[in-house]
Amino acid sequence: MSEPAGDVIVVGGGNAAMCAALSAREQGARVLVVEKAPEAWRGGNGFFTAGGFRFAFKSFEEVCALVGDLSDEEKASMDVPLYTEDAYYDDLMRVTEDLADADLALTLARESQPTMRWMKSQGIRWIPMFGRQAYRVGGRFTFFGNLVLEAVGGGPGLIDMEYESAKKAGIDVRFEAKAHRLLTGARGAVTGVEIKTPDGGRERLEAKTVVLASGGFEANVEMRTRYLGPNWDLARVRGTPYNTGDGIRMALEIGAQPWGNWSGCHAVQWDYNAPWHGDRKVGDNFQKHSYPLGLIVNVHGERFVDEGADMRNYTYVKYGREVIKQPRRAAFQIFDQKVVGNLREEYRIREVTKAEADTFEELARKLEIDVEGFVRTIRAYNAAVQPGPYNPAIKDGKATRGIAPPKSNWALPLDTPPYVGYAVTTGITFTFGGLRITLDGQVIDAEQRPIPGLYAAGELVGGLFYTNYPGGSGLMAGSVFGRIAGRSAARAAKG
Ligand SMILES: Cc1cc2nc3c(=O)[nH]c(=O)nc-3n(C[C@H](O)[C@H](O)[C@H](O)COP(=O)(O)OP(=O)(O)OC[C@H]3O[C@@H](n4cnc5c(N)ncnc54)[C@H](O)[C@@H]3O)c2cc1C
Repeated sequence: MSEPAGDVIVVGGGNAAMCAALSAREQGARVLVVEKAPEAWRGGNGFFTAGGFRFAFKSFEEVCALVGDLSDEEKASMDVPLYTEDAYYDDLMRVTEDLADADLALTLARESQPTMRWMKSQGIRWIPMFGRQAYRVGGRFTFFGNLVLEAVGGGPGLIDMEYESAKKAGIDVRFEAKAHRLLTGARGAVTGVEIKTPDGGRERLEAKTVVLASGGFEANVEMRTRYLGPNWDLARVRGTPYNTGDGIRMALEIGAQPWGNWSGCHAVQWDYNAPWHGDRKVGDNFQKHSYPLGLIVNVHGERFVDEGADMRNYTYVKYGREVIKQPRRAAFQIFDQKVVGNLREEYRIREVTKAEADTFEELARKLEIDVEGFVRTIRAYNAAVQPGPYNPAIKDGKATRGIAPPKSNWALPLDTPPYVGYAVTTGITFTFGGLRITLDGQVIDAEQRPIPGLYAAGELVGGLFYTNYPGGSGLMAGSVFGRIAGRSAARAAKG
């Protein structure tokens, strides 16, 4: 039996979905959100984030206006390089090897700040990312990676604020309602979804339009292996176990066009002993993102990436993917006491795989790295370090000479014991392949035509991220395209 569920049904309950729901409601539509997870898991991957949003701004005042209540003292302590729409667009194209869909990338860059302001108007509050995105240089917080604001309370705070706003706006949310099949009517138009209920039953929910925002397929071991390739079955999932590609599958079943980098994904260095999927208490703290300050080696003691190629926001995703290619899918980040005080807070959690020793030999033995290979690598590295001033807040050009791979910035010798090593493997964040959309957020079919009644946003959209990703763009893209998809779906629903 079918029942009318509202004008717009939004599938998923993460950041993209909640932005789509709020945006559709703003247009006057009656909105129902159906979320597969139980309420205890609400928020999808959005919950697991730091809540960091990458947006463009052409003056520091624009950043301050988003926060609202920065004191004069705080403002004076911040050194924030401007980040124009052009710079955002250029970063997207540069890190994706010019493969990103230019229109989607331009929309993301141009709509980023207006969407941040819109989110503020919807009750989302922001604070500067002093801890993770700035180094203290000469008494000031120098922001280094064009990622300046996070939601108050990080990912959990973001999700709480979004659900609070949705409640105030009169948006209904049904948990444990797994969308399972799209309903279609005349000329293939989408007319609702069939959901699976917790008792194993099926329910048909009708609506005028549907927005899919149910994430990628990173938590589906079979799809990961099929599309990303060997070894990806063995990656740890950083976030929710519920993103199993359902939205993508449902849309493909009715003729949607697959699009984007289906063999690509966002992945990072993640604690070697982290569980198979995210732990809501530890959140994103299994990640280990301070590697530009040290060295990364594999079990043979060999380096395999340039740790200092760029600011970490532009390398951490592709280096996560390099780790899975190493023997035992393992790597070790090595630091000495000169930099240990600058490691991010995630290095100080209880759930960490770490060893400390006064000599390189002892450290290698403790971490089960080949001792001879490790000592050879460190000696060659130390001998290759060139003199020059060191500054972790900028690309300081303090590099090695004569070794491969080089370390292109922040190359300090490892000479101050005790030495510390952290064991990591690959943690997958989300997949890059998905559905193709118009700039209005409507899903496109295999014959290049928009599918009436079907919209999409968030991780399940393909075409924006290829091979790499600039940190803080996932939430921003989900918000920009969620807002657009919600608005379009509501307008279409209301005729
Ligand atoms: C540990 C971690 C840290 C991160 N840090 C950042 C950061 O600081 N900044 C940033 O920009 N990005 C970050 N990201 C990436 C970011 O989380 C994603 O880009 C973003 O959350 C994607 O939003 P989404 O709404 O598409 O997906 P999600 O937030 O994952 O939401 C998808 C939702 O759909 C639901 N769902 C799945 N299948 C169905 C179905 N069949 N029916 C109904 N519902 C379904 C899921 O349960 C889930 O709630 C991080 C990710 C992780 C895992």
